[in-house]
Amino acid sequence: MKPKYSIVVPVYNEQESIPLFVDASTPIMKNLNEEYEIIFVNDGSKDNTLNVLKSYADKDEHIKFISFARNFGQQAAIFCGLEHSSGDAVIIMDVDLQDPVEVIPMMIEKWKEGFEIVHGKRSKRKGESFFKKITSKLYLKFLQAISGLKIPKNVGEFKLLDRKVVDVINNMPEHDRYLRGLTSWVGFKQTEVEFERKERQAGETKYTLKKMLRLAGNGIISYSTWPLTLSMKCAFIFGFISVVCFITFIVLTCCKIILPLVAWLFPTVVFMFSIMFAIIGFNNIYLRRTYEETRNRPRYIISETKNFEQK
Ligand code: UDP
Ligand code: MG
Repeated sequence: MKPKYSIVVPVYNEQESIPLFVDASTPIMKNLNEEYEIIFVNDGSKDNTLNVLKSYADKDEHIKFISFARNFGQQAAIFCGLEHSSGDAVIIMDVDLQDPVEVIPMMIEKWKEGFEIVHGKRSKRKGESFFKKITSKLYLKFLQAISGLKIPKNVGEFKLLDRKVVDVINNMPEHDRYLRGLTSWVGFKQTEVEFERKERQAGETKYTLKKMLRLAGNGIISYSTWPLTLSMKCAFIFGFISVVCFITFIVLTCCKIILPLVAWLFPTVVFMFSIMFAIIGFNNIYLRRTYEETRNRPRYIISETKNFEQK
């Protein structure tokens, strides 16, 4: 039978967490009295994760898994899970129970009220270092400023997506997808459910600093072409400085204040820099266009229509 709810769970070296997650989520899902599936995406784990998943999938048909050939990262695992899900509502969550499973019914309530994206919002963030909290806050501010996206605060990957949204995301042709950016970019009716983020229940964080930096970089490059505009801005600034300098020097010369010849070198060099930046800037304008075209994002996303014949 087609499931009504799908839960997508990326897992990487999580042999201890999976049993805890299954034990905690199964009664909650059964209580909803609807068909459901829990899709684990094994992101190239090196421990016993795959065998643990196999034994659970053998015992319970609600539990499904997909196993990657190597570690492709949490985002890739999430998007793979979305592509393989068939529920009318899909919940994405981590396996470590930092996102409490008790929030799932609250998210479903909001979905039944008509919301198409329900974000899990962390009111408290236990088990996260001060460094992680401050860097993620600053990063979000920076990303919002350069991308113009409104990404909700204190929101991670834990969210519910309506089938409509999942289909839109699955049909996005771009290669490097970043869930937090995409769910803000697509629009639709969105809301939040607050919860207290707990400590990890078993094992250790699988997010190294390198993985965090790669994710952060991906978010910036996927949602902003602002860095490409920098050279043109530099061209204007350098051009302005050199022109002001030239005018000042000419006025001084007219007032019979003779400057040493070497002084003229400064505005000349600055002017040459401005020309160089302008050339790079023009290249970047075309690069930006090419990037936007190749990414091939839909020009619009339809939420509803009426009285149109089904094509
Ligand atoms: N994860 C993954 N691939 C990775 C790293 C993490 O699938 O390369 C999974 C991990 O198993 C967990 C979720 O992504 O279910 C979040 O990871 P973690 O809890 O380690 O991150 P943190 O909460 O410390 O930011
Ligand atoms: Mg965690």
